[in-house]
Amino acid sequence: MSSFDLTQYKVVAAQDIEAAAKSGAKEILLQAGAILTPSARDAVAEHNLTIRNSGGSSAGSNEWERLFNSPEAEAVKAEIVAVGKKLWQRQYVDGNGGNISHRLTADAVICTPTLCSKADMRTEDLCLVDLTGKQLAGGRPRTSEILMHLEIYKSVPEAKGIVHCHPAHATAYAITGRVPPTCIIPEFEVFVGKVAVSPYETPGTQKFAETVIPFAKNHNTILLSNHGIVCWADTVTHAEWFVEVVDTYCWTLMLANQLGSPITHIKDDKAADLLAIKQKLGLPDARLDPSIKECQLCDIPEKPFTISLDPPSYSGGTRATAAAPDDIEGIVQAVTDAVLAKLKGKLGE
Ligand SMILES: [Zn+2]
Repeated sequence: MSSFDLTQYKVVAAQDIEAAAKSGAKEILLQAGAILTPSARDAVAEHNLTIRNSGGSSAGSNEWERLFNSPEAEAVKAEIVAVGKKLWQRQYVDGNGGNISHRLTADAVICTPTLCSKADMRTEDLCLVDLTGKQLAGGRPRTSEILMHLEIYKSVPEAKGIVHCHPAHATAYAITGRVPPTCIIPEFEVFVGKVAVSPYETPGTQKFAETVIPFAKNHNTILLSNHGIVCWADTVTHAEWFVEVVDTYCWTLMLANQLGSPITHIKDDKAADLLAIKQKLGLPDARLDPSIKECQLCDIPEKPFTISLDPPSYSGGTRATAAAPDDIEGIVQAVTDAVLAKLKGKLGE
């Protein structure tokens, strides 16, 4: 096998790997303890090169350790810890809930550990896994929900950071299977827009992980039925922004619905302006995908929650202008029945 000698370098960059690939080499020779930058690792994977240490042994687990402890990885770990604190402060994660990950190279992802409150998490608690979920480095066991993150990374090359959490207002939509309507608030339109709802599966399983695959490409936010939400972006910081935008939007819709007046929506031509801004920012939206024809620009805003009550029947023939004391019990019963019927309908029982 033709090998390319890079043993003179302590740190190997992408351009060194590109030079090796250009020479036609299939193997790269590194000095013991050499560090590959994340982009160099990507180039190794892209050109399908084998790494060999000058001592003769092929690259092993300590190479993952070196990647995990590289300055680039340390910066990512600090960002993940900061995002975890924001999620906890905004009450988007309870107990040890929620998980965060960042794709460091084509074949390695840094993620949060299992059973760890995002308020207390430190950089040394984080883990490194490959794209099958196998742990490569890190002292604590990785989150079981990394499998879902990995399916998103495999489906969407642009996804670099992922946040999964359980914010109350967006999760309220996820447990009712209701998709928040679009064309109401510009911030939500531009950064998130049409969200998807994935079907329920037991968290932590491969089956659960695969529920997001059909939606990940066209939606940076997916409501996970009876569970929570997941957002992807180019960084974990931006994925956390999307969580904030979605949850505040769902909260605002709930408050507006309580006012009892219809929600007004942004007109189609103005909504098109927002979609154009979104396209410029390179953010995904199902409405920008020409292969999806049924997508309308605007969803009709949902109606406020109303109870319709059948008028009470009167046996005496003349309709009273006010309820007689005898009728009050009947009216209370009718209201109770109507509310229960409406609630049953909402709960799908
Ligand atoms: Zn969860």
